[in-house]
Amino acid sequence: MTDMKPVPQIFAPPVDRADGRLNLVGMDRAELTAVLAEEGLEPFRARQLWHWIYHRGVTDFAEMTTLAKPVRERLATRFAVRRPAVTRAETSADGTRKWLLRFVDGQEAETVHIPEEDRGTLCVSSQVGCTLACKFCHTGTQPWVRNLGPAEIVGQVMTARDALGEWPAPREDRQLTNIVLMGMGEPLYNWDNVAKAMRIAMDHEGLSVSRRKITLSTAGVVPMMKRCGEELGIQLAVSLHAVTDELRDVLVPLNKKYPIAELMQACRDYPGASNARRITFEYVMLKGVNDSPADARALVRLLDGIPAKVNLIPFNAWPGAPFECSSNNAIRAFGDIVNAAGYSSPVRQPRGRDILAACGQLKSDSVRRRKADLAAAGAPADGSAAAA
Ligand code: SAH
Repeated sequence: MTDMKPVPQIFAPPVDRADGRLNLVGMDRAELTAVLAEEGLEPFRARQLWHWIYHRGVTDFAEMTTLAKPVRERLATRFAVRRPAVTRAETSADGTRKWLLRFVDGQEAETVHIPEEDRGTLCVSSQVGCTLACKFCHTGTQPWVRNLGPAEIVGQVMTARDALGEWPAPREDRQLTNIVLMGMGEPLYNWDNVAKAMRIAMDHEGLSVSRRKITLSTAGVVPMMKRCGEELGIQLAVSLHAVTDELRDVLVPLNKKYPIAELMQACRDYPGASNARRITFEYVMLKGVNDSPADARALVRLLDGIPAKVNLIPFNAWPGAPFECSSNNAIRAFGDIVNAAGYSSPVRQPRGRDILAACGQLKSDSVRRRKADLAAAGAPADGSAAAA
């Protein structure tokens, strides 16, 4: 496979002891109970803390008034309840908001909130950068990749809640109702951390986001798909983008490892998929590449027997991108064919384009800024120093 770029090494997230105090965010209930037991505190204290951290959104132990004052003070010397630092916050003309977050090692990732009439979706990143190098995605051009840890993933949800003023989470009329793991990175290549973060996000005594309102998007890491359905029971989206292996090998190089037939079989076997809980197939519309009526008909054949819906994504261009977006007519004709076969096929409205928050645009400008920062700090511009 000489045409494949060497796969970059994926680095693990750093332990967050920024000021000598261990961050409690990102621990599951058992871990939280264990660290508190070391301080001589009973398990019910862990439940109280959980409530303060994930239901009330409190970051200062002094506000945790169900704990005795000396306990609060002692906890504050050893532990912290930290968020990632927000280094930039932007709001698009269409109401989409984007936060650039900086983690303890200086690496950054973005989170995007997309308000709609009946819901609000948070697009969450799972890695800094991505190893998959899909030809149409800007994130894949970044050299540096590391997994985000549970605190960094669930921290994106908490930061959004901070900004939206949603603590404790309202029962009705929430602005943050849905989570999509569709930001930077391949979530199924960071399964343990993603799963842990999503279990925290789904916890009923905490952030309480329903598993039916969480969607994980994968480029098709076939061996991990079953676990996603079995262990989390969340919704699945698959970035298909092509109907032949020949083309998909080029657009989504991961296809060389897990070709279309295997991917479709994994979708047929996805635990919990049904007509009420369909798998979403994402299909980026690339002019003259994958957008013909014949492609649409082939797509329909591929979906046979799968409870599916299709999401057509107009290609979002980035500087130097080797593709153009299909014409509106081509997208409409494609969608009509898929629709006539009985699959809903909405066209995803590009949101937040003016702040580079649309699919595949994340990091477009922050990478440049980060390079400048690293250079100023005397590190090589590819970020390799941060690996040490
Ligand atoms: N790695 C995961 C999640 C991240 S990408 C996956 O591949 O699904 C989220 C979605 O945005 C994917 O469907 C991806 O193919 C799409 N996307 C990436 N770049 C894009 C671009 N420039 N224009 C439109 N969609 C893009």
